[in-house]
Amino acid sequence: MTILYRDIRTYGLREQFYAQARDLGVLFLRFETDRKPLVTVNPTGIKVNAFDYLLDQDIEMDADFVVLSTGLRPHPSAEKIGKMYKLTRNADGYFMEAHIKLRPVDFPSEGLFIAGLAHAPKNLDETISQAQAAAGRAGALLSQERLTVSGIIAKHDRERCMSCLACFRACPYDSPFIDKDGKISHNEIKCTGCGICAGVCPAKAFQVNSFRDEQILAMIDEVV
Ligand code: SF4
Ligand code: SF4
Repeated sequence: MTILYRDIRTYGLREQFYAQARDLGVLFLRFETDRKPLVTVNPTGIKVNAFDYLLDQDIEMDADFVVLSTGLRPHPSAEKIGKMYKLTRNADGYFMEAHIKLRPVDFPSEGLFIAGLAHAPKNLDETISQAQAAAGRAGALLSQERLTVSGIIAKHDRERCMSCLACFRACPYDSPFIDKDGKISHNEIKCTGCGICAGVCPAKAFQVNSFRDEQILAMIDEVV
């Protein structure tokens, strides 16, 4: 058996499968994208021509079967869902976790979790482990009668607000909303205290607890 490949990653214990395959006589042949393998079918059988990158020469092989491996790409709805929930995606279009080591199944937005192929191409055992972790994280939230949030969140002053909607567009967590009276209000449960709204608000109607403008300016004054 010959495996024509572009890139092989044998992370974790999967290196053992690679070693076993080599021991069983499987050949691995790397090809370049500008010299892709050519498959021809003629009355005498199937021929595969490829350029061996390591040997630096053309190879011709007779084949009984040619089996193509299936490529994966993000689900077409990923872009729409990502925009709807303001979820970050990587350059390939897959959703990204909040932190690869510290919050591997959490999205940056609270209460949203990730598992499986939405995250990246992966094997079934990895998908199941990640799904169990995500279910565990969701269960930890749902099992509580009351949820506590950080006290460092933004406070909104309706009297100062000019309803310019700058915060409405800038907030990554959809915390500001248009209230029934047409004015901007603020859902403090959704707020993470990132402070973007305080930075963009021209009327200074948004201030973050413990980081109000006068507190920041006092700190600067003390330093300089
Ligand atoms: S502090 Fe951040 S999360 Fe809270 S309302 Fe402002 S922009 Fe949104
Ligand atoms: S940016 Fe400031 S002024 Fe504009 S809608 Fe938001 S709170 Fe009101």
